[in-house]
Amino acid sequence: MRDELAKIEWLRARFELDGPPSAAIVGIGDDAAVFDFGARPTIVTVDAHVEGTHFRPALISFRDLGWRAMTAAVSDVWAMGGAPSASVVALTLGPDLADASFEELIGGLDEAARATGARVIGGNLSRSSLVSITTTAFGRPIVEPVTRHGARPGDGVYVTGTLGTSSLGLAILEAEAQGLDGAEPFVARWRRPPNNGGAARALARVASAAIDVSDGLIQDLRHLCRASGVGATIRVDLLPLAPNHASLCEMLNLDPLTFALSGGEDYELLFTAAPSAEAGALGTKIGEIGEGSGVRAVDESGKFIAIQRAGYDHFS
Ligand SMILES: [Mg+2]
Repeated sequence: MRDELAKIEWLRARFELDGPPSAAIVGIGDDAAVFDFGARPTIVTVDAHVEGTHFRPALISFRDLGWRAMTAAVSDVWAMGGAPSASVVALTLGPDLADASFEELIGGLDEAARATGARVIGGNLSRSSLVSITTTAFGRPIVEPVTRHGARPGDGVYVTGTLGTSSLGLAILEAEAQGLDGAEPFVARWRRPPNNGGAARALARVASAAIDVSDGLIQDLRHLCRASGVGATIRVDLLPLAPNHASLCEMLNLDPLTFALSGGEDYELLFTAAPSAEAGALGTKIGEIGEGSGVRAVDESGKFIAIQRAGYDHFS
């Protein structure tokens, strides 16, 4: 197995700056990277992926884990209406981690970094009993930064992609039910969050406020409403679900609505906007912003739906 210096040398070569000139001037191999963020504001976010808390190695390959860690971090840049430009990654690795597994992990990180634009320009390695990946991602606002506090009464509430798909995928894995008909895309979605770079570019032009769905729709919409000083009403019959969501829930004796309202880690973009064709083309309209506070769920006749479980709390 490579020792630390050999790993760093391998990483330096692996992430050697190549191709057309990018904003990175000094990459891996010095005390720090040097990066030109230009004249516009810079978006910075950091996200940790810890063995036992965010993933169990039995449920995900090292390659997918790398993709997942990078994409989850970059998702916060997209949620600010930003274009990712670079990343630095701190890894803790188990003492027995094979070189091949390490290379797969880095391969997944690099694949996602290149796909999203957040190329890896630096990082840190340390030894631990658990694998963890802490990714700091940088980006630039595509227009102006899109915050959580711009939602106004009359705005529509929109979401990209589908809801509850990732958390249902994890539930399928935990039930060892991945052999069920139609289960594979759910498992794949949990392992590999979506690349929402194109959606972020459109969002930057139409959204009044935005957040990514990491803790669950209701929880994340509550964060947005609190920041904006508004309330929201969600129509449960309008929530976008992946094909076979309801039938898989039925087979596994799970509540389909709970996953859609409260399932975390979809990493889709939840945004508010004045209703328009552009907003509707970017995401599914699932409700409306109103005066007041809090998030209510109603059915198509306007009857209130009790929300069973609000969402994921990292410290509960
Ligand atoms: Mg977020």
